[in-house]
Amino acid sequence: MKENELPDKEKEPEIDQGMDTSGGDSAISSKNQSVEGITRRSLVTGVGGTVALCALGGVRFAGTTPLVRPPGGQDFERLTAACIRCEKCVEVCPRHVVKPAHIEHGILGMRTPTLNFDRDWCNWCEEENNGHPLCVEVCPTEALSLPEGAEQETTILGIAELDSSVCLAYLDLSCRFCYDACPFEAIHLDENHRPSIITEKCNGCGACEAVCVVFENASISADAKERAVMIRALDEDGKIVNGLPGGGMTS
Ligand code: SF4
Ligand code: SF4
Ligand code: SF4
Repeated sequence: MKENELPDKEKEPEIDQGMDTSGGDSAISSKNQSVEGITRRSLVTGVGGTVALCALGGVRFAGTTPLVRPPGGQDFERLTAACIRCEKCVEVCPRHVVKPAHIEHGILGMRTPTLNFDRDWCNWCEEENNGHPLCVEVCPTEALSLPEGAEQETTILGIAELDSSVCLAYLDLSCRFCYDACPFEAIHLDENHRPSIITEKCNGCGACEAVCVVFENASISADAKERAVMIRALDEDGKIVNGLPGGGMTS
């Protein structure tokens, strides 16, 4: 059973889209008429859970940390206001890179979609849906939504940051997996075959992070706490959040 999924006995049947929804539940019911497949229980759990946590002293988690979001989730205020935590985007992602945010990231954004590149990257569903993001298509409330004509290259999800202190190439060990994986030629190799990020070309797709082998070679990069190249979230001014103290290697 997935995290956040209710045991069978606690599940409520999905609301019949054609049922009479008049009365005290009218607000929720009318919402459900336009939100296919969302149960009354999931809606109440998502909103009510957040309120309850606030009441239980979760104020220390108040606010939020900027996170790397799926395509169309870059407007934080719209995302948190419109997202009903249904996790349809999590379920539909063919690459399994969409994950719900945790409370540590702040109550406001809890269970909203974020991206995790541990195993794969976001290709805008190029192979699975001709480059039309499925997470955006299934979102019932337009919490994830892209402007007309939005393109992968120019929709910035985050920016790659490269840590030369743990990168194998800077330790004179031949490695260029990230360079080969980058679909946007946003990684430069110097004369010694050491990579650096061309930030103007990077959109935070995560292909480099997904293939970085630092953890597979932990005995070599013994000090590594994360991969040598990581996608960082950006703040409202486009600056990297929680990045390396001295900044990453850029071209
Ligand atoms: S665009 Fe496709 S691959 Fe990228 S996060 Fe959305 S569903 Fe996953
Ligand atoms: S540097 Fe990494 S995150 Fe940036 S575009 Fe290339 S592969 Fe994607
Ligand atoms: S894949 Fe990782 S270790 Fe290899 S060159 Fe790129 S950042 Fe360095």
